[in-house]
Amino acid sequence: MNKDCKNNIKMPELLTRKQFLKESREKAEHYKHKIEKKTGVDLGEPGIKNLNWHAFDFAKEILEIELLGAYEKKDFLINPFLSFAAFPLTLSILEIKHFFQKNTRAIYLSPNIYINTRKKVREPVLSEKNGLDKTMVHELSHVLWEKLGGELNGISEKGNERLSMMVEGFATYSAKFWFSDLYPIKQKHYLTDYWGLPDYQAGALRMMRFTEEYGEDILLKVPTQWRELDEKTMMLEPELLFSSEKQLKAFKGHIDYEE
Ligand SMILES: [Zn+2]
Repeated sequence: MNKDCKNNIKMPELLTRKQFLKESREKAEHYKHKIEKKTGVDLGEPGIKNLNWHAFDFAKEILEIELLGAYEKKDFLINPFLSFAAFPLTLSILEIKHFFQKNTRAIYLSPNIYINTRKKVREPVLSEKNGLDKTMVHELSHVLWEKLGGELNGISEKGNERLSMMVEGFATYSAKFWFSDLYPIKQKHYLTDYWGLPDYQAGALRMMRFTEEYGEDILLKVPTQWRELDEKTMMLEPELLFSSEKQLKAFKGHIDYEE
């Protein structure tokens, strides 16, 4: 009896996780076509996977990069051995990292979008207006960035603060403004509405400035030309306030203030 009760409680939750993933896949397909139509860019076939697979795929990719590097350097013995030995370690570090990032809604690691199906994330996403729609459009905007020729923060290199700010700003701005006409429920977005991380806020403000200055079509050029755009487009006080010290340090242009 007790066991049955337990099963009865667990069953719907498992189904809900599955349904959530299924719903994410349907939304991804739906918005992929809409974004392709709006931008004229082919987004390919991004996979939609459970976030639980992210650490494994990421560690596997690091291993492949290491092995390829060893192969090119003709260093067959030591590097592959170290890589294989490092694989479980890398995987567990990433898993620990995920444990602390448990509120992350989704992650894009080319060619897959990883969806967090944990109840803690599922609930707020589903209760939010256009919640899952915005999550999927944000991740698809990362795919768009990549398809437009933009570099993503690489696996093997150390993170570039300014690049990461541009990548997240592009996706945030796209999901909140550029593609907001695609959502089923009409919604007005505000600056204060941004996800709380400095990359998202400062980057989205930068996108806003670019579109004010050069029109919305400039967004199609941002992935490949963000460095030039960043340098030639004046930064205003809100952008400076939202930027972190590291992001500003990584900025190569001059900083101007406006009255
Ligand atoms: Zn993102």
